[in-house]
Amino acid sequence: MMTGKYDPILVTASLIIAVLASYTALEMAARVTASRSLAARLWLLGGSSAMGIGIWSMHFAGIFALPLPVAMGFDLGETFLSLLFAIAGSFVTLIVVSGPRLSRMRILWGALLMGAIVGGMHFMGLAAMGVTPPTQYSRPLLALSMLIGIVVSGAAFAITAKISRDSAHRHWLRAGAGVVMGLAIAGTHYTGMAAAQFPAGSVSRIVPGGITAGPLAFTTLGFAFLVLSAALSLALFDSRLESRTAILARSLALANEELQFLAMHDKHTKLPNRALLEDRLEQEMRNTRRDGQPFSVLYLDLDGFKQINDAYGHHDGDALLIEVAQRIRAAVRSRDTVARVAGDEFVLLIDTGVPSDAASCADKLISAIRQPVTVAGHLIRISASIGIAVYTGLESDGHDILKEAEAAMYHAKEMGRNGYCFFEKSMNEDARRYLELVQDLRFALERREFILHYQPACDVVDGRVTGAEALLRWRHPAHGLLSPDVFIPIAEKTGLIIPIGEWVLDEACRQISEWRNAGQPHWTISVNLSAVQFSHPGLRYSIEETLRRHSLEPRFLTLEITESTAMRDADASLRILQELRSMGVRISIDDFGTGYSSLLYLKRLPASELKIDRGFVRDLAYDQGDAAIITAIIALGQSLSLNIVAEGVETVGQRDFLMSLGCRSMQGYLMGRPMPSEMFTQPTLYGKEGLLAAPPAGSEAPGSAPAPTPSHENAPIVAPLSATEFASC
Ligand code: C2E
Ligand code: MG
Ligand code: MG
Repeated sequence: MMTGKYDPILVTASLIIAVLASYTALEMAARVTASRSLAARLWLLGGSSAMGIGIWSMHFAGIFALPLPVAMGFDLGETFLSLLFAIAGSFVTLIVVSGPRLSRMRILWGALLMGAIVGGMHFMGLAAMGVTPPTQYSRPLLALSMLIGIVVSGAAFAITAKISRDSAHRHWLRAGAGVVMGLAIAGTHYTGMAAAQFPAGSVSRIVPGGITAGPLAFTTLGFAFLVLSAALSLALFDSRLESRTAILARSLALANEELQFLAMHDKHTKLPNRALLEDRLEQEMRNTRRDGQPFSVLYLDLDGFKQINDAYGHHDGDALLIEVAQRIRAAVRSRDTVARVAGDEFVLLIDTGVPSDAASCADKLISAIRQPVTVAGHLIRISASIGIAVYTGLESDGHDILKEAEAAMYHAKEMGRNGYCFFEKSMNEDARRYLELVQDLRFALERREFILHYQPACDVVDGRVTGAEALLRWRHPAHGLLSPDVFIPIAEKTGLIIPIGEWVLDEACRQISEWRNAGQPHWTISVNLSAVQFSHPGLRYSIEETLRRHSLEPRFLTLEITESTAMRDADASLRILQELRSMGVRISIDDFGTGYSSLLYLKRLPASELKIDRGFVRDLAYDQGDAAIITAIIALGQSLSLNIVAEGVETVGQRDFLMSLGCRSMQGYLMGRPMPSEMFTQPTLYGKEGLLAAPPAGSEAPGSAPAPTPSHENAPIVAPLSATEFASC
């Protein structure tokens, strides 16, 4: 028997080739699972080529590692055939073992195939040497060689089966499986070599014409290293690319989800928005028409939210809305829809068996919202008005249940807020008119529909007119002259109050300049500021510009803000008032007595004047309490050196009583109603020196028709909707 000694370098190189080939093949097989169609087929081809070349070159490197004392050669054709066999066999094996889930059965088949290929390749390689006499084999060693091939490659496939696609260590695990597989190939080969026995005097008959061992050893190893390294790099690069693409795709999907959510939800409360609500409403209506189960729409609007927002700022306003949204959500069932459709407006869709279900739900909501809430350190109490409309499925097509619920909500406001109302047909008309008015208000300024009326302010002791208060009127083309109580709340809600307020200021300053130039140099003008204007950052600039435009000294302009506006955010108000005062304009606290000012705060207010609310003056003769309040306000004003003006003086009795308390500045129908500018200076009303032409005589009985009043405002200002209807909006 011929024997030889293994070359350790070539053995190591053959082992490395086997491991490298196995790892490359496994990486490529993994790409087959990750890719689709053509790419998958190409990876399969690449993987089987890598594996085939690896097994083949391992075999030859292994043979060269055992130098036999005879010259060995190889048949070119058979050698090439053995390479094709290794590649084709690997192709079939990889088909069996690649795929999303590697079952035990497939592992078994893969291992059997692997054993057969490595073993087969071994015998084909030996056959290509054309050794004579024929090589003999030890059967037990041969069987062991096959067993090693099957069992160890089975282990490698089993490791592969455990590798998940998303695992961070998948490349390492696959490298481990590659090592095991490499051992399987090498084990099969070297045990197979041990099984082969070359009888003494064996020669390779191929030597003369075939390729000789020396060059083949280098060519094989170099070629195998090159191909395998390139293939492995490609597989790893693609795998990295795939991970990046997967990460990108995941973040894209997340961003997409977020965008979709935002398109359908309100970003503060995270509740569905109007778009999603309409979708759900459609669906509910379809369900009701199909199965006859009615549902209710609850339209909920917070009472006085705007004031809270103005007073505490948008940030706290938003926090309050989020709290309210949570309370609403908690008060209804999870399958009911709760949507936020506008600033402080929410809509609920709830399944209802009978209307009383909707009523008890509304009750629950009202009491949940009424509980005090602490927002940024302020204890706030807020209430809600709810309109309910029930959908039974019998209504005609195009029926707008949302509008009905909204109309019912306005009705609930009108009924005194903090309650609910079921929709009735007559409400639709009111709501329609309201929406029309909102629409018309947007164009009123450019259509020059606003005018100012002026109400005289008098010193009743000497009967002299001291100035005028500018009061805004809207000459509506269809509804006639509208009172500010009707449209100012809408203007505030829509933000139109800013341009409208600027127009009022400009027109009033223009008018007073004209009167002063025309011979009334002592008259002053009072302009009302709403809370929205008061806290608007452009206020100071707008006032300065207006005064400059009309060359009016600031002391002839009085800005009136209501006591409740001044009280809302005391510190912020104080800052704004000081700023205005430093400009030289006068500040008047309007409707005084209704806003619960603290005396301490009042002392710090840089005001020049307090106007006693006309509510106190009205019942002076009958209400002892009112008389006591007025007495206190006058005493207070005197001690703080403030001018006290009594508003709404209609009768001689009221005037005399106020005079007896030391109040001499008055405004009211008794002295003159608000009137257009051209009437204000008519000599029939006022004397040359601005005195009232017919000062009220002390002889007139209280309650009688007021003495000289311009007749044009005796006719009531046309208000198409009641004041409460709009005050509540
Ligand atoms: P206010 O500033 O307290 O104005 C006095 C209101 O009382 C005016 O109502 C006036 O017509 C009315 N009045 C005057 N004397 C008497 C009287 O003897 N008896 C009775 N019953 N009423 C009298 P008007 O013009 O309807 O204005 C209502 C409120 O609308 C004003 O209350 C003021 O707060 C607001 N307002 C008026 N013009 C403007 C404006 O240009 N801008 C802003 N932001 N608000 C305005
Ligand atoms: Mg006023
Ligand atoms: Mg007032």
